[in-house]
Amino acid sequence: ATVNPGQAVVRYDASLERRLNQRATIAADLRRALSAGEFHLLYQPVVELPGGRMVGVESLIRWRRPDGATVSPADFIPVAEDTGLIVELGAWIIDTVCAQAAAWRHRHGPGALQSVAVNVSARQLLDPSLPDVVATALARHGVPASQLTVEITETAVFGGGRALNTVTALSSLGVSIALDDFGTGHSSLGLLRTCPVDAIKVDKSFVDGLNGTPQQEAIAIALTGIAETMGLRTVAEGVETPEQAQRLFELGYRHAQGFHFARPLPPEEIDALLDRAHRL
Ligand code: C2E
Ligand code: CA
Ligand code: CA
Ligand code: CA
Repeated sequence: ATVNPGQAVVRYDASLERRLNQRATIAADLRRALSAGEFHLLYQPVVELPGGRMVGVESLIRWRRPDGATVSPADFIPVAEDTGLIVELGAWIIDTVCAQAAAWRHRHGPGALQSVAVNVSARQLLDPSLPDVVATALARHGVPASQLTVEITETAVFGGGRALNTVTALSSLGVSIALDDFGTGHSSLGLLRTCPVDAIKVDKSFVDGLNGTPQQEAIAIALTGIAETMGLRTVAEGVETPEQAQRLFELGYRHAQGFHFARPLPPEEIDALLDRAHRL
């Protein structure tokens, strides 16, 4: 068979062009979508092991277009970062999460949820006004900083600089800092020394290795040991089976999140869970 490098190049270009077009379409539409109110937040329970009592939630953004199509955050958050719109969208997210946390406090009491988490992307951490945005939202809605967790990724703070300064300022407000997707970055363990971290979220890829070979389980085992020694909270992410939940408990994990317990839910369903004594 003859190799035809030209053909391969053409195919590659075509798919690249499609992807660039999709990004350009999303970029043009994001600002309109924000003013049109097409974004909403779902909240995924974080539960205690064993037993599954809900102790917190993580907010996750959704975009529903007027035609009913939904766009995944994995597709539009990177575009919002590139265009800088994430700063405005992020401020809306933070304010909406604080308003929701206040509503839950009002309806179910201040102790009903220990923590309400919000995802903050790398680009947002480069904005020096982020700590003010967070402080203003907390104050406006009367939510104590201690109830808010800001989830950041390792790569966002890798290299220190402005992003690390922002995280330090956020931490000084009294909000908790959680390292998301922990273990998948390049400097996971080193960051625990330089960055003010309160919690780590152990990535789903390590949860997937549970009940496998000792090699597959090794990282999930090591991370809980490190976290305990350093006084960090750990949350295991992406728990999909009862076997994984059981194994996590055996390994010393006390907090977990995943489809086995609950999917991301609309806020009313979190209310319903809070009414039912938090059990999943
Ligand atoms: P993430 O912060 O790591 O969020 C966890 C993702 O895993 C969510 O996807 C969640 O729905 C999904 N998930 C939860 N449990 C399970 C499980 O048991 N199995 C599987 N397969 N998946 C599970 P989602 O909502 O599509 O969000 C994807 C990513 O988009 C998030 O990853 C986060 O990086 C980003 N994102 C979502 N909402 C926001 C936001 O409000 N702001 C920012 N900056 N980023 C966000
Ligand atoms: Ca997260
Ligand atoms: Ca994660
Ligand atoms: Ca992720």
